Amino acid sequence: MWYSSPMQCPRAVFFDLDDTLAESFHPPVPEMLERLRRLLEHVPVAIITGASFQRMHEQFLTSFETHPNISQLYIFPTSSAQAYIYAAGIWELLYDLAITEADREHIKKGIADAVSRIDALKDVPHFGEQIIDKGSQIAYTPVGVEAPKELKDSWDLDGSKRLTLLSLLKDKLPEFEVLMGGVTTIDITRKNVNKAYGVRWLSERLSIPIGEMFYVGDAFSETGNDTVVIPTGVEWRAVSGPAETKRILDELIAACSA
Ligand SMILES: [Mg+2]
Repeated sequence: MWYSSPMQCPRAVFFDLDDTLAESFHPPVPEMLERLRRLLEHVPVAIITGASFQRMHEQFLTSFETHPNISQLYIFPTSSAQAYIYAAGIWELLYDLAITEADREHIKKGIADAVSRIDALKDVPHFGEQIIDKGSQIAYTPVGVEAPKELKDSWDLDGSKRLTLLSLLKDKLPEFEVLMGGVTTIDITRKNVNKAYGVRWLSERLSIPIGEMFYVGDAFSETGNDTVVIPTGVEWRAVSGPAETKRILDELIAACSA
């Protein structure tokens, strides 16, 4: 559902990270962080992403630590398999839907086996690790984590190269959630752990009806990793990238400070 215009102030706002708040794998630029800090003065803000907590912490989370409303900032890493808040001077893990070590090994074997059956994925030139173990999520990227941005951005624009792998893995690992990740990845979490989980969780935590919350993301196509939030009933808007997110943040700040 498209949010009615002019913008009303929602009671909480979710932002996807990669290609929404920031270019893929990069931190949000200072002007974006400044806008998030201003919005946080008025409503709870959540960042919900396939990225790891470690990456966000290294890249930008410390810039929020002195904010007077820091307790209203919610971080949902690894497709909301975890949630963090900052309290009493530390980032506190509110929940962790970790995958057991045995299950992680089972998933990795499943990925290797599936990849070996797909000609298009055999011997893809790759840069760095292809399988990334984040504890609560296993990510697989055929081009490798250190692939140059241009390669990542262009490798699987419409998701079609990953679709065969996605359906093979869904058959192979029915007890897990197999998700289309950002630009080149497939993310695997525990069953029913995806961004919709985080949206529902925050609604309960804050006692705010889901329909009064707002979600901003870039990936709402059939295979996009933000699409799963639509059935929750959250108000949502798709953006083409960080420039558009910045404009939405300006609208939100104006609406919420009115
Ligand atoms: Mg994204």
